[in-house]
Amino acid sequence: MRALVWHAVGDIRLDTVPDPQIEQPSDAVIKLTASAICGTDLHFIRGTFSNMQQGTILGHEGVGIVESVGDEVRNFTPGDRVVVCSTVSCGVCPPCRAGHTAQCDNANPNGPEAGTCFFGGPQATGPVNGLQAEKARIPYAANTLVKIPDGVSDEQAILISDIFPTAWFGAELADISRGDIVVVFGCGPVGQFTIASAFLMGAARVIAVDSHVDRLAMARRQGAFTVNFEREDPVAVIKQLTGGTGADAVIDAVGVDSQHAHHGPASDEAEQKADKFKQEVEQVAPETHPQEGNWVPGDAPTQALEWAIASVKKAGRLSIIGVYPPTAEIFPIGKAMNKNLTMKMGNCNHHTIIPHLLELTRSGVIDPVGVLTNVEPLSNVIDAYKHFDKREPGWIKTELMPQA
Ligand SMILES: [Zn+2]
Ligand SMILES: [Zn+2]
Repeated sequence: MRALVWHAVGDIRLDTVPDPQIEQPSDAVIKLTASAICGTDLHFIRGTFSNMQQGTILGHEGVGIVESVGDEVRNFTPGDRVVVCSTVSCGVCPPCRAGHTAQCDNANPNGPEAGTCFFGGPQATGPVNGLQAEKARIPYAANTLVKIPDGVSDEQAILISDIFPTAWFGAELADISRGDIVVVFGCGPVGQFTIASAFLMGAARVIAVDSHVDRLAMARRQGAFTVNFEREDPVAVIKQLTGGTGADAVIDAVGVDSQHAHHGPASDEAEQKADKFKQEVEQVAPETHPQEGNWVPGDAPTQALEWAIASVKKAGRLSIIGVYPPTAEIFPIGKAMNKNLTMKMGNCNHHTIIPHLLELTRSGVIDPVGVLTNVEPLSNVIDAYKHFDKREPGWIKTELMPQA
């Protein structure tokens, strides 16, 4: 079959690889009918999340049809339409039963202390071959797959494989209650769904910060107040939009590839912090291979966090769903501590959240397809990655057609 394979930082290839097989009685094999490219995938190619194993198939977002199941998979039958949870979970260990399926004790082959196991990730996460392929082996399939209800399309379901639940999880961590003013840093696909989730949870006002006009336009269509950090100082504008006190809750949907301002009033601060940001990039991305404007790490790993802490109110809440590698030791703890902030963060507990979002979609409360901007055949996957990596206008979220 064809699959997108990670060979090295800056080197991904569409290869022909052996078809996946059932290896454990808890496995299933699915034929993918939809896949997608995610911002998380870019970290592995830019080098801002290291220790990938050569030969790993990339991708952790998928929708498909069950082809075969192992003896321990009692809840699926070949032919079932399923959405894949990006994180693998067993469903029976204590963290899974408490809803923390991203911290499953059994899923990660490196042991219970190794942390989240997800598809198409670095060595420490499994590694488990990913979903930008024609077929995939699904470990712990009874829990890692979720049936798609009638009335929910593949296009809708692919957005519920990872990015919508991650956003929902971020909004839950922010403890939003009715009347809150919520700031979302980052208006990529996860940021867009974070805005939608915050509104669904009762936020009275959502302020969305980014520098890309197409992303800000999509945020404004959802009803968010938009702030372009290349034109304005985001912290000053947020203070102004919150009566001087700051936001009740701030959600970081950016992560390690954060950018500082290069123009406008916020670029002065970036110039003062240039050395600090440079050291941070060296710490999180010891090896990089930029080529013709692609695979360039973000130039200010803590910029989004700095702004988040500065723009939340005293004793406010900070939620972090943007991805940071375990090697990042760069958090501005002093500023957060002296403001009495409550902070929650982590990898999304997909299995716990996905059924609810499928039901919100089926019942028409929300149509996730509004965030999807591109549909490409798997044969064009590398080209699509390059457009998305450069954050080109119009390339917000790309669905891949695995059989095309
Ligand atoms: Zn993703
Ligand atoms: Zn578990």
